[in-house]
Amino acid sequence: MHCRCSFNSGRFWATSITGSGGQMAENRTGKTMLGSCLCQKITYEILAEPRSVVGCHCVQCRKTSGHYVAATQIKSELLEIKGLSNLTWFQSSATAKRGFCKNCGSQLFWTEVGSGKTSVMAGTIDGATGLTMDRQIHTETKGDYYELPDSTIVDQSTL
Ligand SMILES: [Zn+2]
Ligand SMILES: [Zn+2]
Repeated sequence: MHCRCSFNSGRFWATSITGSGGQMAENRTGKTMLGSCLCQKITYEILAEPRSVVGCHCVQCRKTSGHYVAATQIKSELLEIKGLSNLTWFQSSATAKRGFCKNCGSQLFWTEVGSGKTSVMAGTIDGATGLTMDRQIHTETKGDYYELPDSTIVDQSTL
C-alpha cells in the first residue's frame, strides 16, 4: 500500500556519500543521514550516529505534532542545517525551543537551551534510518485514543 500523501520517499542516507563530492563526513563516522521539511526549503544532515528514537507524549509535543513526537538526538555541532532563513524557533517553555519550517509548518527540531544537543523529529529523516524507537517519556499525558508503543517507559531526565 502506498501513502498518497507522500511525494518524496525512498531516499537513503547513503546517497549523501556520493551526493556532494569532495570532503564528506567519512572522517566522522563514515555515514550521515539526510532529512528535510515537507517543502524542502530546509534540509539537514546528521553527521554521526544519533541516539535511538524516543517517543514523547507531553502536551507540548502532542499539540505541535498533532499526535506525539518521535525524535532522535545528536550533538548540535554534528547537525548541519541548510535553509536557515526558513527555520523559525518557537520558545515553547522556559528551557526549550522548537524549530519548524515557516513555509510548510513541518516540525523538525527541539532543543533544550544550553544543552548543546538537538532532537531531530525522526519522521523528517529521508529514507531508512536504521534506528529503533526504544523508549517513551511523559506517558502520563498521552492521548486516550492510542496505545503506547511496546517500549520502555523512562523519565526524561535519564535521556
Ligand atoms: Zn518546509
Ligand atoms: Zn514532549
